[in-house]
Amino acid sequence: MKKYTHLFFDLDNTLWDFTSNSKHAMEFTFNKLRLEQKGIIFSDFFEVYQENNHKLWAAFRNKEIKKKELTKQRFQLTFDTLNIEGIDALTMNDLYLTEMPKQKCLMEGAIKLLDYLKVKGYKLYIITNGFIEVQHKKMQNSGLTPYFEKVFISEELKCPKPGRAIFEHAIKSANAKKANSLMIGDDWSGDVLGAVNFGIDVVYFNPIKLSDNQEKHGIGTSSVKIQDISSLFNLFDLL
Ligand SMILES: [Mg+2]
Repeated sequence: MKKYTHLFFDLDNTLWDFTSNSKHAMEFTFNKLRLEQKGIIFSDFFEVYQENNHKLWAAFRNKEIKKKELTKQRFQLTFDTLNIEGIDALTMNDLYLTEMPKQKCLMEGAIKLLDYLKVKGYKLYIITNGFIEVQHKKMQNSGLTPYFEKVFISEELKCPKPGRAIFEHAIKSANAKKANSLMIGDDWSGDVLGAVNFGIDVVYFNPIKLSDNQEKHGIGTSSVKIQDISSLFNLFDLL
């Protein structure tokens, strides 16, 4: 008997190639605002931005800052570090957020996998941390939307992964049972620990193969099953 009936996917860097897409969108925005004319090199800008964005998202998830502060400061702090003047941080953020969801790169094998899972009769859902207006557009423009019954977005539910509430809401809303549900995601703390603490099996999609003690912490004793994959193609064998 097949164990799983309901599959809950993370979106960014699990199905939608956030790393490539955000870089393309940022490069477009950088060029549009002619930042190279201020003597700035794109790779430097992107590196500083990513560092700031990462830190601010952590603060945002911990409810230490609000969305407006996150979106403004990730650019403002980057401008400050690189001595960029005369550009408004929120203007750059808006341009970037308009451009990003237009990007269409998916993780290798994503569409083949979703076609396969649909044929097999699985019910598919998304559980994602992100902004409502951006996540839906990403899915529509990249062709992901038709595969999914429902999309659960942290901003809408006011609870990001790894918090229990978003998983709880998703399972209930999908009419799923925990025992027949599987989470699939690339983020160790958000997706894996979130699913484990909530009590559903999880697949850790780890394409860059982080070493065991580098990232995998916080499991303790758990009754749920955790499986590692390095490619979405590995899911054909598991499901
Ligand atoms: Mg992710």
